[in-house]
Order: sequence, then C-alpha cells, then structure tokens
Amino acid sequence: MESLKRENNDLKRSLRLLTHKTKQNETVLQSFFDMEIRLLGCHQLAELLDLILLEFKQHFHLTAVNLILFDPEQAARGLLDDDTSQATCSLRFVDNHRLLKSLFPNATLRFGQLSPPINSIAFPNTPSIHSSALLPLIRHNCLIGSLHLGSNDPSRYSDEINYDYLEHLASVIAVCIENCINQQNLKRLSTIDMLTKVHNRRAFDQELLKELSRVSRLKIQLSCLFIDLDYFKLVNDNFGHQIGDRVLQSIGLLLKQNLRKTDFVARYGGEEFAILLPNCSMEKTLQISEQLRKKIANMVMHNDDHLPFRISASIGCTHCTPINTTTDDLNAQAHALLKAADAAVYAAKEKGRNRIEYRDLPDRQASLWRHANRLTSSSLMDN
Ligand code: GH3
Ligand code: MG
Ligand code: MG
Repeated sequence: MESLKRENNDLKRSLRLLTHKTKQNETVLQSFFDMEIRLLGCHQLAELLDLILLEFKQHFHLTAVNLILFDPEQAARGLLDDDTSQATCSLRFVDNHRLLKSLFPNATLRFGQLSPPINSIAFPNTPSIHSSALLPLIRHNCLIGSLHLGSNDPSRYSDEINYDYLEHLASVIAVCIENCINQQNLKRLSTIDMLTKVHNRRAFDQELLKELSRVSRLKIQLSCLFIDLDYFKLVNDNFGHQIGDRVLQSIGLLLKQNLRKTDFVARYGGEEFAILLPNCSMEKTLQISEQLRKKIANMVMHNDDHLPFRISASIGCTHCTPINTTTDDLNAQAHALLKAADAAVYAAKEKGRNRIEYRDLPDRQASLWRHANRLTSSSLMDN
C-alpha cells in the first residue's frame, strides 16, 4: 500500500514536470511562430536584417546574433548602400564560399560550445559566447549565408538536443532573404536606365510628382534641369554608335558623381538627361548648372583610334517655390515645370549651345490676381 502511494506521488510529480515542460515548449514554439510571421511580412532587406540582427537578440534572449551573407554580385550590398542601421555591424558579406564552408564542414547545423577559432569567426565582436547555434542558410542547394545565435549561458545550446524548429527557422530566413533581394532588385531595375545606370524617364516622372507634393507640403524649393547634348548625332555619325553609347555612360556617371545623394538624375530621352534638385535655391541652381556645363565641356573622351574629342551640352533650368504652384493639381504642376525646362533648353540651343538658360514658372499670386481680375471684369460686363 505504502509503495503504491509513493509510486503514485512520483508519477504525479513526473506528470507535473512534464506538463510544465510542455507549457515551456509551447511558449518557445509560439514565440518562433510569431517571429516567423514577422519575417514573412518584411518586404525590404534592411527591415528584414534589423529584425534578425537586432530584435532576435531581445526576443530570444541572446547575447549576440551575427550573420554572414554570400553576396558575390553585391546584390544585397547595393540595396543597403544608404543604410545606417546599427545592425550592419553584426553583418558581413563574402564573395566566395571559403569562410562559410569552414563553419559548416558537414553542411549541417552546429550547436553547443565552439572551438575558439570558430567562435571568433562566428562572433568576431563578442568574446563571451559560451554556447551557440550556427545555422546554414540554404537555397536551391546553395549556401547563401550563415546565421549565428550566441549565448553566454553554456547550457543554452547543446549538440545532444534536437532543434528542429531552428532548422525550420533557418529555411524561412533563407527564403525571406532571397525574396527581399530579388524583389527589391527587380523593382530597382524597372526604374533604372540600363545603358547609363541613372534613373529612367518613368522613375523621373514619378519622382517629380513626389517632389512637387513636398514643395507645397513642406514649403521647400525645387529645381529642374534639362541637359541636352550638343550635336550628339555627329558623335554617332563620326565615331559610331558604340562610342556614342560610351559618351552617354560617361555623362551619366559625371552627373551622378557631381550631385548630392538627394538629387535625382535621369535619362529622359536619347541624349537628354533631366535632374531634380530638391531644396535648392535659384542662385545655387544656376551655379550647379554652370559647374555641370563646364565639367561636361572639359571632359575628354576617345574614339576607337584613341583620338581625343569633347562634347558640350545645353542646359535649361527652372525653379519652383510654393508660390509657383499655380494649381493644386500635381500633374498640371509637373507639366508646367517640364514645359519651362524644355523652353529653357530650346533657348540655350537657339543662342548657340554649350550654355545655360533659365525660364521662370508663372507664379501663383500673379495667376490668382489675373483670375480674380477676369472674374471682376466679366461680372462688370454682366451688369
Ligand atoms: P542638338 O545640338 O540640336 O541637340 O543636336 P543633336 O545631334 O544632339 O540632336 P538630334 O536630336 O538631331 O540627335 C540626337 C541623336 O542622339 C540622334 C540619335 O541617334 C542619338 N541617340 C539617341 N539615343 C541614343 C543612344 O542610346 N545611343 C546612341 N549612341 N545614340 C543615341
Ligand atoms: Mg535632344
Ligand atoms: Mg542634342
């Protein structure tokens, strides 16, 4: 009887422990499911990396989270150019598989205590890691990266425990990283001019509407330049189409290199470029246009026989402030701005090329005044 009671008590204790353990496991799994939903909801690589490298640490109570990405064509790096997130210090890119292969000699996940050399590769900035999970990120049988979860608790990860959920998490992360890179690059490609690598006309038209809405909303100024290369047809006729293409590429590069990151450079048509200078005064706009004109005129190019030649450009500028926004219709504003810049280029051509010309936009006060006057005179006539 006594022994049965003892056995019963033991069984009850085991049951309590098991129930407790099951609840713990459920909580861990739920927190992984929550994270999985958030991972799948990321559309930008920067947002995804912030989630993995910064939030994972808090969410899973880790000492360090590090990531290595295989990025031979700089597709990921290109998307993070302007990213200043602190996540980037836990992120490394590799152009070949050497480092990744040294972390996964058996091509499988690794758990537990790592040797000091492997620890210093996996967590170069955190010496206090006593146990870790190294997860290979695999897509289409190719190692695209490696995620490292590190803890200062030596018992946190052990190679005797099965971590199916971490394997699953690694596959989800690999898919998310690949999707973000592909989707963002695809979107970027649709806004880029393939020859010159500056934006294309479609992107310019969209950006113009965006910038014009900022002009009235934030009360800022906006300048627009049209740059048309002079006698460009002669470059093609004299040196061939390929040299002509190379000239267009050099001009695209020159424009990008000589403007601010916030300025917007686009190839608007064959040998025409359009530029938006947000938050730029009229005086500064004229100064920038003149600098660009000089730089283009001074650029020396070479034909296939290595003979040097130069090219010049006619630049038309216009400038817009909140009082110029004669209408609230953004499309009409964009049309007026493009018309003014186009008229300015035309004038520069007429006046002999290799020069800048400026055309004003009609201003709102004058237009409202004219409109009011017309109404008054017509109501007087009605009387
Ligand atoms: P203007 O000073 O009056 O602007 O003279 P232009 O010769 O520059 O102007 P025109 O409009 O007569 O000729 C533009 C030339 O630009 C004709 C066209 O073959 C060339 N072009 C347009 N797109 C490309 C391109 O992608 N590559 C090359 N190589 N040439 C192009
Ligand atoms: Mg032209
Ligand atoms: Mg031209």
